[in-house]
Amino acid sequence: MMPNKQKISAPMLSVTDALAAILGHLPYTDTQTISLKPGLENLGPENVALGAILAEDLTAVLTLPPQAVSAMDGYAVRGVDVASMPASLTRIAESAAGHPWSGKISAGQAVRVFTGAAIPDGADTIVIQEDVDPVAEEDGAVITIRNAEPIGRYIRPAGLDVRAGEIILPVGSLLTSRAIGLAIAAGLTHAIISKKPRVGILSTGDELVEPGNMPGPGQIISSNASFLASFVTACGAEAVNLGIARDQPRAMLGAVRAANKLDLIVTTGGASVGTHDHIVRDLAAAAGTNGTDDAVISSGLNFWKIAMRPGKPLISGFVDGIPLIGLPGNPVSTAICALVFLGPALAHMCRGSVTTPSFDVALSVPLDANDQRQDYIRAVLENDDQGQSVRPAPRQDSSMMSVLAQANALIIRPPFEGARAAGDRVTVMLLPHLY
Ligand code: AMP
Ligand code: MG
Repeated sequence: MMPNKQKISAPMLSVTDALAAILGHLPYTDTQTISLKPGLENLGPENVALGAILAEDLTAVLTLPPQAVSAMDGYAVRGVDVASMPASLTRIAESAAGHPWSGKISAGQAVRVFTGAAIPDGADTIVIQEDVDPVAEEDGAVITIRNAEPIGRYIRPAGLDVRAGEIILPVGSLLTSRAIGLAIAAGLTHAIISKKPRVGILSTGDELVEPGNMPGPGQIISSNASFLASFVTACGAEAVNLGIARDQPRAMLGAVRAANKLDLIVTTGGASVGTHDHIVRDLAAAAGTNGTDDAVISSGLNFWKIAMRPGKPLISGFVDGIPLIGLPGNPVSTAICALVFLGPALAHMCRGSVTTPSFDVALSVPLDANDQRQDYIRAVLENDDQGQSVRPAPRQDSSMMSVLAQANALIIRPPFEGARAAGDRVTVMLLPHLY
């Protein structure tokens, strides 16, 4: 085989800078109108609101509540009539949810109300039924009030929750179950969302066989593609299996060009610059550059060593205008890089973003000082009599899928963080649902 003379070097980049550079290259997907009534209408799988990201603001059609309503069962009265206790008032009507009373309350009068009932005109105070004798259910009955709530308490004013015309969910919002409930309550039936990105997933390596086959000598099953297909699906994207490309020049380009209408290409393996690593050189070839540093950068192809562990080499480039993210091949490196870069990339393509809450927890065992790479340590967050603590897995090899699968959290150690003793607090993020 001809030695490769192309000069492709990789600068060391922080996680934050690498992520910003990747996001900066990614276009938005097209938009689509969908129904917000999943399960209530016979809709195809392409019309699923849950998990989609809004491509336009959602503006409330209705005010919630539409008029002042009671938050308690009791009586609506005038504050001036219950200024001194006890007070005797006459029950004149009832207002219940769905059955408003349209009159106006006058001096000495009370209207029986229930939770969600419209507050009658003229009333500004709620007396809860526990403070009334007797709790009369007939109009004309005289009731005695032993205690009244301050004016306004237990009254939900019109528009307390939502006002017609206000933006309830801005562009980029994730359509969660809660968001869908809100939008429906505010009078909406449809939303304009970002189309799911179609993500082509390509494994690379001469050692790989497809799942379901018995590996021969020197072979292993390609698991990264199944991980990634599940991951991108959980991120609300559509996975397209591009199979396995062998470690040959242009094999990646051939597989990608055979696919249809991809919004993003994700490769695993072959991401370094060894003799058998072809992704960077294929991208340089696709961009028509000679693979020197300057030509590679100006073509939009970036190849970095990222200051993170696991997962050092990472590639961002284009094939025929379609963005490509090249992940390292070790399964745990693939998985952590997917979490750190691919998840945010997919959200960004849909006009959204990912927020990853982190918090500080006590370590159950000591940790050595960290080096220059941001470390994502597979760990188990535990609750016991002592409270909450986090236990790093004793072995952190980037090939160990079992350790990642058993973890429920990652300890995130910034570059150069000093040694930590048992009991010291470290920064932790929970692994997302379905990750
Ligand atoms: P590479 O980045 O191509 O040098 O691969 C690094 C390591 O990851 C090697 O041990 C590969 O066998 C392994 N690997 C690469 N691709 C996959 C895959 N699709 N599934 C499982 N392991 C893989
Ligand atoms: Mg390989």
